[in-house]
Amino acid sequence: MPIYSPNQQELAGKISQDKVTLSNWRDWAWQRKHSIQDISTVESLLGITFGADERKKLEETLETFPLSITPYYLSLIDTDDWRNDPVFRQAFPSPCELEIDRHDMADPLDEDKDSPTPGITHRYPDRVLLQISNVCAMYCRHCTRKRKVGDVDSIPGKDAILAGIDYIRNTPVIRDVLLSGGDPFMLSDDYLDWILTELRTIPHVQVIRIGTRMPVVLPYRVTDKLVAMLKKHHPLWINTHFNHPREITTSAREALARMADAGIPLGNQTVLLAGVNDCPRIMKSLVHKLVENRVRPYYLYQCDLSRGLSHFRTPVGKGIEIMESLIGHTSGFSVPTYVIDAPGGGGKIPLTPNYLISLSTNKVVLRNFEGVITTYQEPENYQSGFCDRKCDDCHLQLNLEEAEEIGATGIEMLLSDHDATISLTPENNERMERRNND
Ligand SMILES: *Cc1c(COP(=O)(O)O)cnc(C)c1O
Repeated sequence: MPIYSPNQQELAGKISQDKVTLSNWRDWAWQRKHSIQDISTVESLLGITFGADERKKLEETLETFPLSITPYYLSLIDTDDWRNDPVFRQAFPSPCELEIDRHDMADPLDEDKDSPTPGITHRYPDRVLLQISNVCAMYCRHCTRKRKVGDVDSIPGKDAILAGIDYIRNTPVIRDVLLSGGDPFMLSDDYLDWILTELRTIPHVQVIRIGTRMPVVLPYRVTDKLVAMLKKHHPLWINTHFNHPREITTSAREALARMADAGIPLGNQTVLLAGVNDCPRIMKSLVHKLVENRVRPYYLYQCDLSRGLSHFRTPVGKGIEIMESLIGHTSGFSVPTYVIDAPGGGGKIPLTPNYLISLSTNKVVLRNFEGVITTYQEPENYQSGFCDRKCDDCHLQLNLEEAEEIGATGIEMLLSDHDATISLTPENNERMERRNND
């Protein structure tokens, strides 16, 4: 029985002078230590050579956006068709990264602006993102935080992390904390344990989430020891980042099973990438493999406007086409929500094909995934009582002890009975200026 695939054995032999055992290969520290960071090593490991011209452009690209690939992730590349390989495309630089499109932005999501304290992005009413790592095992070429990749190749110290945790402690509306980075699983078990323990001392933090790509690029990081530690901090959710069915290998499956067996609900965020997964069949195969491994497809992201990603972007129509191929055609829980993270920091905006064709006061006309056009009769005697949000005299049984009220904002506010706002008007528009001048 081969201890690992012949391809991996051959690769390991080239990477290290010493004999590489299976336990070396499966040791995440070994994988980290032997991460590939230059073009020549990729050439020799994959048995490929770039021409002088291309080589020069690639070197230039690396000066802006560095390269780092784990031996494991590199071993997934199909050397027969490496240029079109989805793993190669996600891990290896392309000179296109230096072609700055005129719509590109350094920080399209305005994360730096929505940051009340370093490391925190507070964008939504009840949840925050806390960056606890500036490092990753593999530098994804499509990274949305590309501006920071390789920047401060470090893990924040306890003081910096405590500053973020203090913000959470002092902000009682936060009930959900999303640990992100970089990759939080780059931290040692003990350090991560310390952070989770600190967060768990905050009574209003109900849920903790971790976003990590380790199950994809370095599944050996998900050790029994790590999982035993995580398990102490439930309710804990993990979101990972598979983009292509080829990434779901035996090792990845093992990592996912370990986490699922520890009772951790698993989700997946995919980025729609031209030349990697912009195809309904690939996407369907991906979501099926995910659910087979107890991972719920969570988001499908439209590739954002970060600098150096223009060659990865697809039209939004491609995403809608993929959603058409999933909704109704496969299990509801296999269908992710397709989102655009709004440039300028508006947060995630869901996009779906249109199913509502028309409506009158008593009927709704809808279409299904097959093209059947159907009607839904509205109820004749629905009482839409006035809701003042003072729930004491309402017959619905809302236990108010458990439901903290956060004031309605945005469209929810416009729809509500208890708020007198009748329109939302952008600031700085000329019409408002004219009004102010009158
Ligand atoms: C994505 C994101 C979240 C979490 O959003 P969910 O829709 O709840 O998954 C929170 N904060 C920021 C800044 C985000 O980008």
